[in-house]
Amino acid sequence: AQIMSRGLPKQKPIEGVKQVIVVASGKGGVGKSTTAVNLALALAANDSSKAVGLLDVDVYGPSIPKMMNLKGNPELSQSNLMRPLLNYGIACMSMGFLVEETAPVVWRGLMVMSAIEKLLRQVDWGQLDYLVVDMPPGTGDVQISVSQHIPISGAVIVSTPQDIALMDARKGAEMFRKVHVPVLGLVQNMSVFQCPKCKHRTHIFGADGARRLARTLDLDVLGDIPLHLNIRETSDTGQPIVFSQPESDEAKAYLRIAAEV
Ligand code: ADP
Repeated sequence: AQIMSRGLPKQKPIEGVKQVIVVASGKGGVGKSTTAVNLALALAANDSSKAVGLLDVDVYGPSIPKMMNLKGNPELSQSNLMRPLLNYGIACMSMGFLVEETAPVVWRGLMVMSAIEKLLRQVDWGQLDYLVVDMPPGTGDVQISVSQHIPISGAVIVSTPQDIALMDARKGAEMFRKVHVPVLGLVQNMSVFQCPKCKHRTHIFGADGARRLARTLDLDVLGDIPLHLNIRETSDTGQPIVFSQPESDEAKAYLRIAAEV
């Protein structure tokens, strides 16, 4: 609200970046960062001529360093811009590269905004076809600020099929519409669990919640990602599934979503 009252900052594209896709969620822990990472890898895998970057503006809880198995301080270019770190062919920038891993990230309002501005403006991306942005969860100042600073091609909203996550996802979709960011659609994460032993399928968080929400909000469902141990393990060990197990059904689910955005 504070940002709104200061008036709209002038939107300026990030130099060298053709399309910005933000990945957002109403609440934490629904798989937003996992989706952002695998979506970035899938965009690159679907078309090897495309250059893809990943920007982590989840300044309170950056996950990209761990998920992309990266750490270290970015070098500065001649024009004093930060150079992204590279892994699996994806250029990455994260608050996690700029602060000690153990440092408590107790950013107060203004510090967060200056950190965001640094991440949006002081990175030398070179030429990118897609920049995937991992947003913080929720609908706060950071999300609004990012939407006001740079032109965004579209938002992907991640939710589990559970009522509570969906209520928050709805708020997210409504916020993006208010700031004129097109919502590309919903990703329903953890929708089905298949027992690796008996192959029985269980809808742990409900079956079709995101689909129903999508219908009421007139949004597309971009795809379903199953709840799967391999997604958790690969994500948490910095070997994202689209990179490490591209032939798996789980990776294919992300590749299909990337083909939709
Ligand atoms: P968020 O960014 O929404 O907080 P994360 O992407 O960090 O969520 O995911 C939270 C946890 O759930 C992580 O440990 C991640 O590996 C795991 N996870 C995410 N999606 C799946 C999935 N489809 N199947 C299994 N585990 C998942």
